Amino acid sequence: MATPEKINLLDFTSEKLKAFFLERGEKPFRATQIIKWIHQHGVDNFSEMTNVSKALRAELEEIAEIKPLEVAIDNQSDDGTRKWLLRLADGNCIETVFIPEDDRGTLCISSQVGCALDCTFCSTARQGFNRNLSVSEVIGQLWLAKNLLQPDHQENRVISNVVMMGMGEPLLNFENVVDAMDLMLDDNAYGLSKRRVTLSTSGVVPALDRLRERIEVSLAVSLHAPNDELRDQLVPINRKYPIKELMASCLRYMDGKAAREKITIEYVMLEGVNDLDQHAKELINVLRDVPCKVNLIPFNPFPETRYKRSSNNRINRFRDILVDAGLIVMTRKTRGDDIDAACGQLAGQVSDKSRRDVHFARIESS
Ligand code: SAH
Repeated sequence: MATPEKINLLDFTSEKLKAFFLERGEKPFRATQIIKWIHQHGVDNFSEMTNVSKALRAELEEIAEIKPLEVAIDNQSDDGTRKWLLRLADGNCIETVFIPEDDRGTLCISSQVGCALDCTFCSTARQGFNRNLSVSEVIGQLWLAKNLLQPDHQENRVISNVVMMGMGEPLLNFENVVDAMDLMLDDNAYGLSKRRVTLSTSGVVPALDRLRERIEVSLAVSLHAPNDELRDQLVPINRKYPIKELMASCLRYMDGKAAREKITIEYVMLEGVNDLDQHAKELINVLRDVPCKVNLIPFNPFPETRYKRSSNNRINRFRDILVDAGLIVMTRKTRGDDIDAACGQLAGQVSDKSRRDVHFARIESS
């Protein structure tokens, strides 16, 4: 008889692990101890859990495991940005990026293998959609990055911020993403503040409305166009949830929140497409009532893309028009260009399952 697959404890939030232990007749505080071992101390071996009884450790050993993701490629950029290609148990691969800055370290994590949304300027879109990531695969990216960047688990927080801006649309993997973010905020796990965990969405309105009921995190919205005609082309999900509905949902999301809290509006700068003065003026109207800051993202090109990055002059001019109207605007610095780690360049790589030794080929060249 085949041995049943072990339960991966990286799939459990504190609440779910408590329920799991209660069902097995164990005290719920055991769950807290184990969550701390896994996520604070980065332990993947029950024998190291010294405050847990030997009997329970032995029992857990039988039925459960803490199964980290496997690093397929580890790339470091000249600017310190680091990108990992991670191989999942089924051979699929995802990408995770760490971006160090003077005052923070941001981990950009993936929520799906590929993406179904087909935004025309994004390289993940060209891979199509493969599947949702499990909770362990989402939180496993943070678990692994923390262990690799901070093997001694000292106090200093190398990873201070997490952004769900890697591959995939997080709101289309709702339950697993909510559970993973729950662990990010959990004081017994990563203890990040809600201001330092950001979910980025292209605007899945019904899921965005549900998000607020479930968990409080910061929100980034990929707008990229100031009118439906243009947004329908760039971000096709706009045909289903047009700008007006999306902005109304953003307002609902922010309802009752402190004035200092803002939605980040992401706007990729595509030369001659969405970067004209007229677009900036339209954008002012769209954002008039929304508590937000605008993040202008210089387009990051990838092979065979039809788009070009707007010039710095154009980006500055666009920014000035928005600033003159009283909007808060930042231009995102492009990082990790040399290792294809910049926004929208996370294409993953395709694995050829016909070969036993998993063979990686750049999606562009396959
Ligand atoms: N699906 C989510 C999260 C992933 S994309 C979303 O759409 O928000 C993270 C951010 O990178 C989004 O704002 C996305 O529009 C942007 N992006 C995608 N491709 C890009 C590219 N080639 N250059 C710059 N930014 C890009």
